[in-house]
Amino acid sequence: MGFMAGKRALIVGVASDRSIATGIAEAFAREGAEIAFTYQNEKLKGRVAKLAERLGQDTDLLFQCDVTSDDEIDAVFAGLGEHWGGLDVLVHSVGFAPRDQLEGGFTESITREGYAISHDISAYSLAGLTKAALPLLEKGNKPAVLALTYNAATMVVPNYNVMGLAKASLESCMRFLAADLGPKGIRVNAISAGPIKTLAAAGISGFRKMLGYAEKSAPLRRTVTIEEVGNTAAFLCSDLASGITGETTFVDAGSNIMAMTFDED
Ligand code: NAD
Repeated sequence: MGFMAGKRALIVGVASDRSIATGIAEAFAREGAEIAFTYQNEKLKGRVAKLAERLGQDTDLLFQCDVTSDDEIDAVFAGLGEHWGGLDVLVHSVGFAPRDQLEGGFTESITREGYAISHDISAYSLAGLTKAALPLLEKGNKPAVLALTYNAATMVVPNYNVMGLAKASLESCMRFLAADLGPKGIRVNAISAGPIKTLAAAGISGFRKMLGYAEKSAPLRRTVTIEEVGNTAAFLCSDLASGITGETTFVDAGSNIMAMTFDED
């Protein structure tokens, strides 16, 4: 029996086989969790349905959810409430900024609109989803919420620009939620992943250079996989992590500890 047996999890953020959310779903399924999914729009529904099928999950538990829509968020938890009496795990693996925000200098690229969109979709949505999920989480078994962040929340990464600000907001949101919901027994954490080639990452100008830099400078001299992030997510959302809340856990081959590297060649 897996260490997530009996857990009912909602995963938000599958867009492809390479999505970090896909790695998380694979680890959850392997450890015995039941999983419901959302998909951002009709275009992505088929891919999410295929994943649910491949992992032996109930394909009735797929819900459309563009996180900019309060109505769609509410409909997810109304629908989920009809199937499940409660919710034990909520995974937020969502991020977006308009492409013109993710290239060039910070001052040059940032706009009021780009700031608003990136913060709404990438940071507010954690609060919005958790708030809407709360009645179900309160009926859950040792519930946990998890978000995906990146170290540009605290350190400057070229071209990441306004998404760095959005990740800082997301991490702060995670801590405020953890403090607020802790008395109800609900844990809230984040994983800070190293760079991984996904659809969202492809929108960042020079992303290949980020991967190359991580490979050279990380203590483990490599990047990380969605399987490694998935395994950590499964741990953090399981009862094995019952004493951990409000924490950002790095899954980045150690990159975050390095202040400087010298070229080895
Ligand atoms: P991805 O493109 O596979 O996933 C991003 C998801 O966000 C997609 O499923 C997309 O549908 C969803 N999304 C975007 N706008 C949305 C909206 N309006 N409503 C609902 N969903 C929306 O890419 P990923 O890299 O797996 O990203 C998942 C999370 O991991 C993001 O928060 C990202 O910032 C974070 N992250 C990624 C990396 C990386 O290098 N790939 C590193 C650290 C953190």
